[in-house]
Amino acid sequence: MTTARYIRIHENDNVVTIANDGGLPAGTMLDNGIELREAVPQGHKVALTNLSPGDVVRRYNVVIGRANTEIPKGGWVNEHRLDMPPPPQLDDLPIGNDDTVLEPLEGYTFEGFRNPDGSVGTRNLLAISTSVQCVSGVVAHAVERIRRELLPKYPNVDDVISLDHVYGCGVAIQAPDAVIPIRTLRNIARNPNFGGRTLVVSLGCEKLQADVFFPERFIPIKSGGFQRQDDNIALVTLQDESNIGFDGMIQAIMKAAEEQLVVLNQRVRTTCPVSDLVVGVQCGGSDAFSGVSANPVVGYATDLFVRAGASVMFSEVTEVRDGIAQLTARAANPEVARQLVEQMDWYDRYLGRGSADRSANTSPGNKRGGLSNIVEKAMGSIVKSGSTPIRGVIPPGERCTTRGLNFAATPASDFVCGTLQLAAGMTLHVFTTGRGTPYGLKEVPVVKVATRSDLARRWHDLMDINAGRVVDGDATIEEMGWELFRYMIDVASGRAKTCAETLKLHNSLALFNPAPIT
Ligand code: CA
Repeated sequence: MTTARYIRIHENDNVVTIANDGGLPAGTMLDNGIELREAVPQGHKVALTNLSPGDVVRRYNVVIGRANTEIPKGGWVNEHRLDMPPPPQLDDLPIGNDDTVLEPLEGYTFEGFRNPDGSVGTRNLLAISTSVQCVSGVVAHAVERIRRELLPKYPNVDDVISLDHVYGCGVAIQAPDAVIPIRTLRNIARNPNFGGRTLVVSLGCEKLQADVFFPERFIPIKSGGFQRQDDNIALVTLQDESNIGFDGMIQAIMKAAEEQLVVLNQRVRTTCPVSDLVVGVQCGGSDAFSGVSANPVVGYATDLFVRAGASVMFSEVTEVRDGIAQLTARAANPEVARQLVEQMDWYDRYLGRGSADRSANTSPGNKRGGLSNIVEKAMGSIVKSGSTPIRGVIPPGERCTTRGLNFAATPASDFVCGTLQLAAGMTLHVFTTGRGTPYGLKEVPVVKVATRSDLARRWHDLMDINAGRVVDGDATIEEMGWELFRYMIDVASGRAKTCAETLKLHNSLALFNPAPIT
């Protein structure tokens, strides 16, 4: 007979979460004397007391909702039986002035590619920026030819990739919010993995002209076209009269690419302190174990990276909105707290324009996985940020310039968040999942962490780390946090390849464009 296993996160909680694979049947006795009144799936909650309509339900010592029906002791507490509390107000929040400095973690290094501007990459990639979707088919052909015909001559270059997107034309490019997609694309091109080299392929007639895309780096000239202002950037315009037919375009891109490859091939890995890493943390396909296993493990590793002097970003506005008071209290200074509130307020209004709010975040899979609503999801999501003071706030599409823990304000959508963290300069991504997603990016390595052993077993070649061992009682959060930290350093150094890299699983860039399309 299987032992009934459950998790109670805080002593004040009046629910526990069932841990057994496959859940538990009605009549099961828990060792706390509670008998299950009905079958309860894995990851779902059981009431520890009789609940009447209006009674609060606490998990993480936080009110995650109020019962809207009679729920007996031992009954199943799910999304249908809970009403969600309103979001916390944005005025009258605790304002942090947290100057806590954790004990520095010294002596940890990785093998990275140092760039002329001092940033350090974890991979050596030729990235082809595109100024409009019209060129992407041609660029895809060129990338294939470059990979086949040119890359073998430049063995220090890991790969060639195109930075495809659907922005660039047919958009209100003067609208105030258009600055977000434009600066996102500009800053992605500066990602440390691309070695400070930028190759742009443009159509010619689009709205995102070269001097709008890269002001000061391209200047328009009288005869048409653009003059580049530094040698680290190159432009191929498909509509140029010199390009005769498809083959002419491919030849022009390959010629420009080879000039970049010659330079990129001189990059070699050197020993760098871990403080040169820029780590982005994210979750997706979350379940009730995300906040119990994988996210606390990531939070532990976040603290280790911060202690080692690295920059770490956490994100996903709708998944921290209900925990804003925790975040403002952790601000390193009042200005950081103010910027946190500013980003929350902007996002509330953005969602309001679409007649939505943060409750639109949770997916059917989240709910099947035991997360009743966004409040419960948020409390599990926020722990990825660890415990150190928040030192910086990065508006969407801007670059990370502050060492230590940063909040990068992004949507929670996996691809949009990943894209904005790339723009912020992320060189290593860690991603937790409970339901399972094959998510990956071609720009940076993505380390995937499973919340449950069942997922890690089924997806044995898709998940890099199994934090489900914490749920099983086979490892502690501290042990797994160190394991993740060490593995991430191996991945950053190129000594280890993530599952997504090995299988070449890559999601598309997805720009955050709050501005109108024309
Ligand atoms: Ca996400």
